[in-house]
Amino acid sequence: MSVSIPFHAVIVAGGRGERAGLPIPKQFANFAGRPLLRWSVQAFAAHPSCVSITIVVPDDPESRALAADAVAGTEVRITSGGATRQLSVAAGLAALDDAAEIALVHDAARPGIDAQVIDALLAPFQDRAVSGTLPALPVADTLSRVDAHVLDAVVDREKIVRIQTPQAFRLAELRKAHANWAGVAATDDAQMVRMAGGRIIVVPGSRKLEKITLNEDFQAVEAMLAPSKPAQVPARVATGMGFDVHRLIPGEGLWMGGVFIPFHQKLEGHSDADVVLHAITDAVLGAIGEGDIGTHFPPSDAQWRGAPSDRFLDHARRLVEAQAGSISHVDCTLICEAPKVGPHRSAMRSRIAEILRVPEEYISIKATTTERLGFTGRGEGIAAQAIATVVFPASGSAP
Ligand code: MG
Repeated sequence: MSVSIPFHAVIVAGGRGERAGLPIPKQFANFAGRPLLRWSVQAFAAHPSCVSITIVVPDDPESRALAADAVAGTEVRITSGGATRQLSVAAGLAALDDAAEIALVHDAARPGIDAQVIDALLAPFQDRAVSGTLPALPVADTLSRVDAHVLDAVVDREKIVRIQTPQAFRLAELRKAHANWAGVAATDDAQMVRMAGGRIIVVPGSRKLEKITLNEDFQAVEAMLAPSKPAQVPARVATGMGFDVHRLIPGEGLWMGGVFIPFHQKLEGHSDADVVLHAITDAVLGAIGEGDIGTHFPPSDAQWRGAPSDRFLDHARRLVEAQAGSISHVDCTLICEAPKVGPHRSAMRSRIAEILRVPEEYISIKATTTERLGFTGRGEGIAAQAIATVVFPASGSAP
């Protein structure tokens, strides 16, 4: 159950990432199938309480272009940062409006953020006395002071934690802490708010939130975040097909593949009539033998009126996971004369990948006309067909 406290997300992607030894800053480099930055952006975008996402990038046109490319298809604000992390965060905060009282500040180098961490960070804010929250991990190793290579006293590790991001704050307090900060450049925001008198609550961190600093960290974190590349031979591969049609009626645009396309018509239907997501949902349900979209979301049930169809596909994804399966491929063909699909193909792919929580490479979107023949040819409606492939691990092996 997610906590519904609206928040702004600020992702600091301002580093040059030279230590990673990559040709481009690491936040824009490919990581398990998508740019590193996109992992965090998608996690925030998928959270129902996130009202805006601001990315702070180095102050040069190339970085802005790389960032725009890395997050294409998701609504984000791209802001130029400063010379230090602290100045970059301040630049991000300056861009926020008052649509939310809470801001989550995150480092793009930590791709393993998920809804569970976000919820854990938000929950303590129900207490008005809480200024901020952060995830932290206990320290497993013995910690000791050292003085010029000579061992000094052991530090009590029970009182030490390793601090991660995102860190969440009441926006007004964080802004004030930044404005009044007089110390040396701070490496995280929680210490600034704490020094300003704020109370920061520590919630359990996650190994998945480890920071990627060096090139070899890419492989280590990737192995943790992308278990969809199983080493073992799958026990079973299943495919399912889906087909859907919706009628075109006068309107101002339509939803296809989770993307709104302005058009002089819309698709008629009980939900948002997203013909692409409906076909894919049926294909995924077909692969796991779970009936069809109408079984789970009956059109007779008023609660699905106007519903965004991403929730249908999200439900199907959960059912796949409940069977320990993983979606390895989806291919969809749209059949229509208009609107043109090409300009929206990439946004659809990335949105569908986001809903299914798979790399974009697993998603294919194609389009065809029917040479003006039949109902699609006459522009009376749009059809979509899809095929989904689900892989199940060998029985008895760890999922
Ligand atoms: Mg439908």
